[in-house]
Amino acid sequence: MTFAKGIFTPHRKSASQAHPVEDARLPGHVVVPLSQHAGAPAEPLVEVGDRVLAGQKIGDVQARITAPVHAPVSGVVTAVEVRTCVVPSGRRAHCIVIESDAEGAVAPSTGTCEVTASSIREAVREAGIVGLGGAGFPSHVKLSPPADRPIDTAVINGCECESYLTADHRVMLEDAEAVVDGALLVAQATGAGRIVLGIEDNKQDAIESMRSAAGDRLEVVALKSKYPQGAERMLIKSLTGRAFPVGKLPADVGVVIQNVQTTAAIHYAVREGRPLTERVMTVTGAVAEPKNLRVKVGTAVKSLIEQCGGFAGEPAKVILGGPLTGVAIPNLDVPVVKGTSGVVVLSSDEVEAAPESLPCIRCSRCVGICPTFLLPYQLGLLAGNKMYDEAAERYHLFSCIECGSCAYVCPSKIPLLQLIRLAKSEAMLAGKTR
Ligand code: SF4
Ligand code: SF4
Repeated sequence: MTFAKGIFTPHRKSASQAHPVEDARLPGHVVVPLSQHAGAPAEPLVEVGDRVLAGQKIGDVQARITAPVHAPVSGVVTAVEVRTCVVPSGRRAHCIVIESDAEGAVAPSTGTCEVTASSIREAVREAGIVGLGGAGFPSHVKLSPPADRPIDTAVINGCECESYLTADHRVMLEDAEAVVDGALLVAQATGAGRIVLGIEDNKQDAIESMRSAAGDRLEVVALKSKYPQGAERMLIKSLTGRAFPVGKLPADVGVVIQNVQTTAAIHYAVREGRPLTERVMTVTGAVAEPKNLRVKVGTAVKSLIEQCGGFAGEPAKVILGGPLTGVAIPNLDVPVVKGTSGVVVLSSDEVEAAPESLPCIRCSRCVGICPTFLLPYQLGLLAGNKMYDEAAERYHLFSCIECGSCAYVCPSKIPLLQLIRLAKSEAMLAGKTR
């Protein structure tokens, strides 16, 4: 089962996929952005000098689309200030800096006694759970569909279709019961009668693990390994046959969608009252020992590289997320956030091998693979000429899911994804949304 178009990328997962998840070392300090999610940034609930317990709520705000943040470690707040980070709202955000006391004193928490749709939503909100696949959309909002858009299907995303990344794969092998229970809670909160988990067929052991854990409680479907199979639109199309137009949400076609790590986090929030202060991520590429690590939010990338034996060779680029959609970071002090699925180090050999960008030769390769049936070369051309309105109005700029496939196949190495992202942000500044 699959979707139309798309690309086949080298998987490059073998370096880390067989490595069981290890707990990363407790960081000496953490930098916790107040906006790790789509929607309103949280406001600080602590001040410089305050002592905090691990799991204590340190930021929140009254807004429909937002998520609180919690202290990943116990210690003392040493700063509340703007720092460089990679979050859905940009590359800088207000952060709370905590110097760890290494005592690990944990704020008290309990699971939800009476598990109802509303208590699930409340527990998920209080735990600060957001989409861990990278989008960072607050999960409690997805679990609260409007009455006029009933949900009949919960789609669980176990694709992890980007090259290199293996964290979700390991979670499906090592924490399958939490994923299944979280999926059942998602269905209970939304009223979905069908639960279907999609996994790419390059993870046969994960398919077996999840089928064994799920029994007849949910469907586990093997999907063709093709990029971007894990993108929301593609996955829903592959598993339900339903397409939803630009500007619409999965709820408009009766679907709620959550990533496998997110469903595991929902399980821990509801059953144990555990806030989201850590996640499993892959650290791989040009490092001495690629690993899957359970990492406290706010940990600096530098510390993770050290725990993987340092760089192997000369690093040219360190990317947060996968190589197609991730973001190259300016320095290694950048912290891990809730949506950080991995750190991929590209060596100077790989990056220097890429030639300079050349003019478009109208080969139409980008058109042939675009999963949303756009004309990427035209979007790139219009963005390059600052014709953002025309890109939005005539060429469906906002239908782009930013999968990066067009840039990947372009023989002229035109940075189409960067151009499209620029065009979107400029068009949005001008008041366009579709
Ligand atoms: S135009 Fe957008 S959706 Fe189409 S291939 Fe490029 S990045 Fe992906
Ligand atoms: S793939 Fe590159 S060179 Fe070919 S049409 Fe698209 S933008 Fe032009």
